[in-house]
Amino acid sequence: MKRGRGMDYEVGDIVKLKKKHPCGSFDWEILRVGADFRLKCTGCGHQIMIARRQVEKSTKELSKRQQEQ
Ligand SMILES: [Zn+2]
Repeated sequence: MKRGRGMDYEVGDIVKLKKKHPCGSFDWEILRVGADFRLKCTGCGHQIMIARRQVEKSTKELSKRQQEQ
């Protein structure tokens, strides 16, 4: 688990935001990274586009995708 700026967000990671979505979930799956991210709510499947700096500001936790290496 990592916190703060400069985290290596990657597609497939789950980011926990400080503000909860109306459906009650805090967790978002990263579908696209770049200057803007596309996130999908893991609770209801709602997708949003959000600026990277906004994600960095509101990230509480970043859970890396499970990887076998
Ligand atoms: Zn939701």
